[in-house]
Amino acid sequence: MRLVLLGAPGSGKGTQAKLLASEFGLLHVAPGDIFRSEIRAGTELGKLVEGILARGELVDDNTTIRLIDTRLTSEEARKGFVLDGFPRTIAQAEALDRILSGRGESLDLAVALEVDEEAILMRARLRRVCAGCGKPYNLAMQPPKVAGKCDDCGGELVTRKDDEEATVRERLEVYRKFTEPLLAYYAEKGILEAVCGEGEVQEVFLRIKEALKKRNLLQ
Ligand code: AMP
Repeated sequence: MRLVLLGAPGSGKGTQAKLLASEFGLLHVAPGDIFRSEIRAGTELGKLVEGILARGELVDDNTTIRLIDTRLTSEEARKGFVLDGFPRTIAQAEALDRILSGRGESLDLAVALEVDEEAILMRARLRRVCAGCGKPYNLAMQPPKVAGKCDDCGGELVTRKDDEEATVRERLEVYRKFTEPLLAYYAEKGILEAVCGEGEVQEVFLRIKEALKKRNLLQ
């Protein structure tokens, strides 16, 4: 199964992508996670993108496409993949089509998670991540066992720079301008399913599985 998850920043793409990857044995590819881990490791790429992420802007298409191309041609992607946060521009979507068609493949479905902007702002206010391993928490829905500490590694929980209110608003603006046109792009290809992204994590996951069933991607 080859899937793309679309949705505004904070719509829950990452959480749902992880569930899909583990239930169906798919490779989870999230450029945002890759960029953040490069920043933590202080690599050249990390240094290049740090300011861009902090400002809520997009990393340039070439850098992002190269990163994804490498992941998708890896052995782990053979059983299928779920892309979370890619593509984010029409140029990236076209590049993805070229990468796949070069291998005689195509996308099965783009799932668009629909979440109200106020709910997104609220989620960002409640979100914390571990400064050590990057594990995400929601202070209301999935709080850590010990306040301020990561359950897995004991690291300190912090607010992601790009979850600060001004940055979230900037990211929503960037989403509307560059990423929202992808809804029409995939609708035109007949491979778009919109799913309500509000409510409990498992509820949203069930809706996504219904969308996959509707498209005969699940038994
Ligand atoms: P995310 O974790 O998906 O919200 O991504 C965090 C940040 O990483 C974004 O705000 C961008 O700065 C950068 N980023 C992630 N995916 C892409 C992409 N496909 N194209 C350009 N920049 C991206």
